[in-house]
Amino acid sequence: MPVKTHIEDGVGIIVFSNPPLNPISASAGIPQAIEAALRALDADPQVNAVVLAAEGRMFSAGADIAEFDKDPAAIAAPARRLDDVLDGLTKPVICAIQGGALGGGLELALATDYRIATADAKLGLPEVTLGLIPGAGGTQRLPRLTGVAQAVQLISSGKAIGAAEARRIGLLDALAGDDVRAEAIAYARSVAADGRRRSRDRELSNAGGPDVLAEARGKAPRGAPGDAVRGALDAIEAGVILGFDGGLKAEYDIFDRLLVSEPARGLRHAFLAERAVARVPGLDPALNGDPVRSVAIIGSGTMGTGIALAVAQAGLPVTVIDANAAALERSRASVEGTITRAVERGRLTQAAGLAQRALIGFSLDIASVRGADVVIEAVFEDIAVKQQVFEALDLLADEGAVLASNTSTLDVDRIAAFTSRPQSVIGMHFFSPANIMRLLEVVRGEKTAPQTLARAMTFAKQIRKVGVVSGVCDGFIGNRMFEEYLRQAYVLLEEGALPQQVDAAMEAFGMAMGPLRTMDLAGQDIGWNIRKRRAVEQPDRPYSRIPDIICEMGRFGQKTGAGYYLYGNGGKPEVDPAIDALVVEQSHRLGITRRSISDEEIVERCVYALVNEGARILEDKIAARPLDIDTVWVNGYGFPRFRGGPMFYADRVGLPQVLSRIEAFAGAYQGWAWRPADLLCRAAGAGTGFGTLNGDGA
Ligand code: NAD
Repeated sequence: MPVKTHIEDGVGIIVFSNPPLNPISASAGIPQAIEAALRALDADPQVNAVVLAAEGRMFSAGADIAEFDKDPAAIAAPARRLDDVLDGLTKPVICAIQGGALGGGLELALATDYRIATADAKLGLPEVTLGLIPGAGGTQRLPRLTGVAQAVQLISSGKAIGAAEARRIGLLDALAGDDVRAEAIAYARSVAADGRRRSRDRELSNAGGPDVLAEARGKAPRGAPGDAVRGALDAIEAGVILGFDGGLKAEYDIFDRLLVSEPARGLRHAFLAERAVARVPGLDPALNGDPVRSVAIIGSGTMGTGIALAVAQAGLPVTVIDANAAALERSRASVEGTITRAVERGRLTQAAGLAQRALIGFSLDIASVRGADVVIEAVFEDIAVKQQVFEALDLLADEGAVLASNTSTLDVDRIAAFTSRPQSVIGMHFFSPANIMRLLEVVRGEKTAPQTLARAMTFAKQIRKVGVVSGVCDGFIGNRMFEEYLRQAYVLLEEGALPQQVDAAMEAFGMAMGPLRTMDLAGQDIGWNIRKRRAVEQPDRPYSRIPDIICEMGRFGQKTGAGYYLYGNGGKPEVDPAIDALVVEQSHRLGITRRSISDEEIVERCVYALVNEGARILEDKIAARPLDIDTVWVNGYGFPRFRGGPMFYADRVGLPQVLSRIEAFAGAYQGWAWRPADLLCRAAGAGTGFGTLNGDGA
C-alpha cells in the first residue's frame, strides 16, 4: 500500500511511500491515494487535525519526470486535484518534512496549513532547470507565505534552500529534531482548535516584488532557454494582479504550454540520460562496486593536480606521485592556491578548506600507490612512459586495485597488456579542468573485468562526476566526434565563412563556445599534434591547412595571446583582420570561389557531422546508447542542455531531414567526409528515431 493511515488521540496520520525518493507519481497512485485518505480523515468525527508524512530519508523529491513524456495531459491533473481537495477540507493539515521537499513535493507541502521540517531539510522548486514552472500551485502559494520578492528568487533560480533559511522567510512554521513526525503530531494538537490556515487565504506581500520581478526578467536567458523563467515570473505576477484563482489559472496554462515545448523536452532528456548512463547495459546491477576508500595519482601535471582536487572535494584521501620534484612542488602550490581562493571567495569554509588540503598527500615514490583502491595514471602522453608506469604498478599496486589511465589518445588495451592483470585496467578520461568538468569517460578495455568497470562507475559517482562508458577507439566518444565537428568548421572557412561567423552561429545555436574559440582556449598545439599523426596514418585524406598555418605562426590560442583571435584585452577574443586575410588567401590558393554561407548551414554542417559520427560510434558499439553520447556532449563539450544532446536533437529535427542534408553535403566540396552512417540510413528509412535505441533509459 503506497499510503497508510491511522489515528492517534484525535490526530489522523497519513504516511505515503514511493521509495526511494517518494515522487508524487500519478501512475503509482500516490496523489490519488493521499486524496482518498484526506477525505476519509476529514469526514471522521474522531479526527481534529491531520499530519501528512512520508517514509524514507526524504519527504518527496517531486514529480516523476520519467512520466512527463508518456502522457503530458494526465501529468498535473491528479496533483492539482489533490490541492483542490486540500483546499476544501475542514480540518487543518500539518506537513512533516524530513530530508527535503522539492518541486511537486514542496507544492504538496505548500497546500497544507502548516509545515514543520528537520534541520537538514532542503526545500526548493527546481522546475525551471527542467524548462518548466511549478504547475500545482507553487507560483501562487509560495508568494503568499514568503512574499513575492523571496518567491521570485526561489522559483527563478530553481535552487533549494536549507530549513533554517526556509523558516526565516516564512516557508516553514517550525524546525524539528530527529523525530519530525512525533513533533508534527504534537504541533497538530496545539493548532487543531484554530481550524484551517490555508496558504491561499494569506495576504500577499508585494514589498520589493516589482523590482525583483524586473531584475529577474532582465537576468533570464534570452530566447527559448529563458522561456521557463519568464513563464514563472508571469505566473507570479498574474497572482499579484488577478488574485489567487486568476494566478492559478495562469500558472496551469503556462505549465501546460511549457511541458510540451522543445527546451523542456531537451532538458528532460538530458536529466534522465544523466541518470541512465550509470545503468550500464549488460553490467549486473548487483555488482555495485564497493566504495573507493583511497586514491593514488601518478603524474602531478595539469590533469593529475585537477583530479586530486576533485577526489579531495569528495572527501577521499589521495596521494599525488611524480618522478619530478619540481613538478610535485608546482602541484602542491597549485592545490594550495585553488583551495585558498575558494576559501577567500566564500565557496568553502576555512575548516572545509583545511580538511581538503589535509586529504591530499604528495610523494616522489611510486611505491606510495600501496593501499590505494584506485590508481590513476596521468603522466606524459607517451606510450613508453605509460609502459614504464604500468609495469611498476603491476608490481606495486594492491591486488584488486583499479588501475586507470587518463590517456586521451592511446590504446587502453595496449596499456593493459603492460600488466599481468589487464582485467583491472580501465581508462578514466577526465576533462580539463578536472576539478570542475563533470564528465568522465570510463573506457572499458577488451579485458576489463565487470567488477573493475562497476568500481570505476561507483568511483565516478563518489567524486560527483557523470561517468559515461566508452569502448576503446581513437578519441573515445567525445573527441572522435569533435574531430568531425572541427573538420566542418575548417572546411566552412575554406568555402567562405570567417572564424567569427562560425563561432557566432554555433553560439547562437547554444554551444557554450564556438569551435574555433574552443580550440583557442584548449591550445592549438594539441590539435596540431593530432593532425600531424593523422597525416601519417591517413595520407589520402585531404585536410584543411588553415589551423596548421596558424600554429606555424606560433599562434596557439589564448595561452600565446593569439590564435584565431587576439587576446590582448583581459583575455576577451578580438577579431584579427590578419586572420580574415589568411582565411581568404587560403581559399584562393585552393582555387575556391568564396560564397556567402548562412548561419543555418553552419549549424547543420557542424551538428550533423556530430550526428553522423555519433551513429557510427553506435554501430561500432563504442557507445551503448544514443543517450550516452548525448550525456558526453552536454557535460563535456558545452552542447546546449536544452537541446538534449546531438542525437536527441537529430530525432527532434527528424532523421529523414538530417539524412537528406547529409546526402546533399556529400555531393559538395570535401563531400568524402559525409558518407552517411548505415545506422542513420536504416533508422531514417524505418521512420524510427535514435531514441528507440535508448531502451527504457530516456
Ligand atoms: P602534464 O605534462 O601536465 O603532466 C604530466 C606529469 O607526469 C608531469 O608532472 C611529469 O613530471 C609526470 N611524469 C612523467 N613521467 C612520469 C613517471 N614515469 N612517473 C611519475 N610521473 C611522471 O600532462 P597533463 O596535461 O596533465 O596530461 C597527463 C595525461 O592526461 C596525458 O595522458 C594526457 O593525454 C591526458 N589528458 C590530458 C588532458 C588535458 O587537457 N591536458 C585532458 C584529458 C587527458
